[in-house]
This record gives sequence, structure tokens and C-alpha cells, in this order.
Amino acid sequence: MKFSELGLSDSLLKAIKRSGYEEATPIQEQTIPMVLKGQDVIGQAQTGTGKTAAFGLPIIEHVDTDNPNIQAIIISPTRELAIQTQEELFRLGKDKHVRVQVVYGGADIRRQIRNLKQHPQILVGTPGRLRDHLNRHTVKLDHIKTLVLDEADEMLNMGFLDDIEAIINQTPADRQTLLFSATMPPEIKKIGVKFMTDPTMVRIKAKELTTDLVDQYYVKARDYEKFDIMTRLIDVQDPDLTIVFGRTKRRVDELSRGLIARGYNAAGIHGDLSQDRRTKIMKQFKRGELDILVATDVAARGLDISGVTHVYNYDIPSDPDSYVHRIGRTGRAGHHGVSLTFVTPNEMDYLREIEKLTRVRMLPLKPPTAEEAFKGQVASAFNDIDELISQDSTERYQESAEKLLATHDATDLVAALLNEMTKEPASDVPVKITPERPLPRRNHRNGRSGHGYRGPREHRHNNYGSHRRHNNGGRSRSRRHDNHGSNHSSRHAFNIRHRED
Ligand code: ADP
Ligand code: MG
Repeated sequence: MKFSELGLSDSLLKAIKRSGYEEATPIQEQTIPMVLKGQDVIGQAQTGTGKTAAFGLPIIEHVDTDNPNIQAIIISPTRELAIQTQEELFRLGKDKHVRVQVVYGGADIRRQIRNLKQHPQILVGTPGRLRDHLNRHTVKLDHIKTLVLDEADEMLNMGFLDDIEAIINQTPADRQTLLFSATMPPEIKKIGVKFMTDPTMVRIKAKELTTDLVDQYYVKARDYEKFDIMTRLIDVQDPDLTIVFGRTKRRVDELSRGLIARGYNAAGIHGDLSQDRRTKIMKQFKRGELDILVATDVAARGLDISGVTHVYNYDIPSDPDSYVHRIGRTGRAGHHGVSLTFVTPNEMDYLREIEKLTRVRMLPLKPPTAEEAFKGQVASAFNDIDELISQDSTERYQESAEKLLATHDATDLVAALLNEMTKEPASDVPVKITPERPLPRRNHRNGRSGHGYRGPREHRHNNYGSHRRHNNGGRSRSRRHDNHGSNHSSRHAFNIRHRED
């Protein structure tokens, strides 16, 4: 549907056009008219479907620019998301001269207080810092017309319910309350009942979530085997931009350190890093200066990154929805993507649960051998050499090149170059990743009660020793992958044998 049919004014239509949005997304199409009418709305749609503009456009529409008070507040789970939302609202409200400010923890509060004195009409913030400002009376919410709980599922997971409640209690009772979320666990509906007035649910089915554009694989491996397998896979698949998801902050730290030790251009983000560091890493990744971003679900949640060719789930997510969101990072805008999920033998039920939601079967991959990984590296070096040679500025080296060729054997020279361009054998750089407790075994295949973070955690002894590896007996076939990602990675084949079990 066209934005012009949704009842928005010209200055907003102009900003929408400038943003390059041609049509409203389904969540926007359905929620914008209701929000414009002042109704309370609960909107659920997958990550990346434009939920920010779904609440942002009507809020900007309603802002009275002659009124210096804060008229709308958006509560956001992380600093990154808060910043991203502020930027988008600022862009959309620019023609109307709406003032939008963001506040988040880990940044100088005095500067935020100075900026708050310029009377923003829309305030975006993380729960803790918003509460901080309320306690200091540097933010007043008694003129709020609309309150938004954005990425509500994530805020609940992060334990922000008390903060949220404290913030809501300082807003007028007759406010409009909106809630947006990628998933809809039962706790969210409770929020709807508690803080909202007769809310309308808008739910956009996440059917096309795992697009055909993403080839979904899994590798069955024990926890301690995963790291070596992953670096071999990276060598063979030669991804352009990769996100590796780890279950915990410690995992993220250890994985990024391990990858760097093995010569990969990687960095990790999670909530314990300083804001500056996270921003810097995200910028590098977006610019392609960083090949591998290692992240926790929370740190990567909602971040708008394009061009990701591979997603590696180092740890299988406990929640099928998280899986969908993770792999939604790739296969965007018509580009092919690859996702690969590690699963330990006793986590197979989680894999089946995911497949039930996505209705896509993941293909088993046999871990590449060290030799295959080496070949992958050499193939990648070939590509790089092709690229280097096609760059035109090598003339000034002609003479030196001839001199070298006169004193060395050409094959030796090239071998030395290849040696330099490829990484040391992984076995020379041992990396130890602290074992994480595997997900509790699922007792009910159909129930979703076993989610690690929702119910009490069940500790199961992990009987690694008693599991036999299954990946040797499978029938093998090879398959050419020549249409994934960028030109760079597509030029050479990647031969991985599928394990069928
Ligand atoms: P969500 O909150 O649902 O995860 P966002 O609001 O962050 O999604 O939007 C994801 C991306 O899509 C952003 O880059 C945003 O600018 C863009 N976007 C939003 N609405 C549209 C639209 N109607 N057409 C094209 N792109 C859009
Ligand atoms: Mg969002």
C-alpha cells in the first residue's frame, strides 16, 4: 500500500520519499491508521519490517511543535537500538522540525541534561537511564501523549519490567500506549492487560521469515569440537561478512579472541563493552573493515546491517524465534545467504523445534577436514591474487619483479606468496573455548516450556563420552556453491559433503 493512503501529512510523505521508502510494509499499513486514531496497539512483526516507522510516523504527525514538552516517549532495550530509533525519527521529523533526543546509559549524563533543556518533543531512551533522569527530575513525563514499548520481548528478557513500570507510572493515565515486539511470549500479553487500554493486536505472520534465499545447514558436533570445525568452515566457505552468534558474553569474548588468534579479522560485541567500543565495531563491520562480528542475541538484536553473507550459530538458540531473527540477518534484499547452526547431540530436539516453526529442513553438513580447509584458504588466496593483478598500479614493480625472477625460481616465489597469504594451520594455534552448559534436554517435543530463560533451568549431566559421532557413516555427495554472497566468494566452488542421517 502507498504511504499516501494512510492519512499522513505532506511533510511526512516528503520525508518518507526522501528515505527511499516506496510502499508501506504490512505492519506499517495495518498499524499506522490505528495509531493515528489514538488507539492502543500491540504490533508484532519480525525484525527488519519497519516497526520504528510504524509508530514513529503517527507520533511525528501528532507532535505539536509549538508545545515545548516531551509528548512522546519510546523505551528501547539497548543503546544501539535507542540511537537507531532516534536517528530514524529525527530523519522522518526533520521537515516538520520535530526535536528528538536519545538518552542511554554509559554516556555522560550532564551532556544529556544540557540537551534535554532544549525541549525535545520526542524522547527515546533505555529503561535504566530514563529512570535515572526521572529521579533527577531532568525528564518530566506529565505531558506525554504516547508511550512506546519497543522491542518489548527483548526488554522483558533483559529484566526491565520494573524500570518500565516505574516510567509508565509517571505518565498520564489517559496516554496512548503502543507496544512493538518481534515475538509475543505470554508475558507480553500481560503487559498489554496491565498498562494498555483495550489494545488491538496486529500480528504479521512470520511465514516468509526464512526465505529460500538462505541456505540453512547444521553441523552436529560436541561443544569442544565446534571451534575447530567453525574455522575450517570459514576457510572453505570463504564468507564475505559473517555474524557468529554465541550464547553468552564469555562465549563472545572467547570466540572473538580465538578467531583473531587464528588470523581472522573478527571482533565481538556484547552488553559489557563500552558504548564507544560497540559503536566503533559496528561501524567497522558496516563498512566491511571487519569480516566477522561475534555477538550475543541481545547485542545484535534489531541492528540494521546489510550485506551479511553468512550467519554461524555457534550455539543453537533455545528459542525458535531467536533462530529466525538471527538468520534473518542474511538473505536480505534479494541476496543469497548461508546459515549454519552447531548442534550438540542432545540438542537435536531444539533443532527439530526450529524446523517445525520455519517449515524448512536444515541440511546436515559434514565438517570439512583440515585438508579441505587448507584448499579453501588457497582458493581464497587465488581470488585475492586475481583481484590484486587486475588492479592497474603494478607497473612500477616490473623491474623489481624481473630481478626477483632472475634470482629465484618462479614456483618458489609464488609458493612463498601463498604461504604468506594463507593462515597458519589451525592445529598450530590451539584455541580453547570454555564449555557452556548445553541446553536442557527437551522433555516434551511439542511443548515450548523448555526454553532456558523462561523456566527454571534444568541441569543435565552432559554425557559427551557416551555419544558416538554420527558423521562418518553418511552417504556423501558434493555440491557446488557458486551463487552465494558477493562476486568474491562466488568465484570458486565450495565443496562440502552433506551428511544425511
Ligand atoms: P524493525 O524495528 O521492525 O526491526 P526497523 O524499523 O529497524 O525494523 O526497519 C528496518 C529497516 O527498514 C530500516 O533501515 C528502515 O529504515 C527500513 N524501512 C522501514 N520502513 C520501510 C519501508 N516502508 N520501505 C523500505 N524500507 C523501510
Ligand atoms: Mg525495531
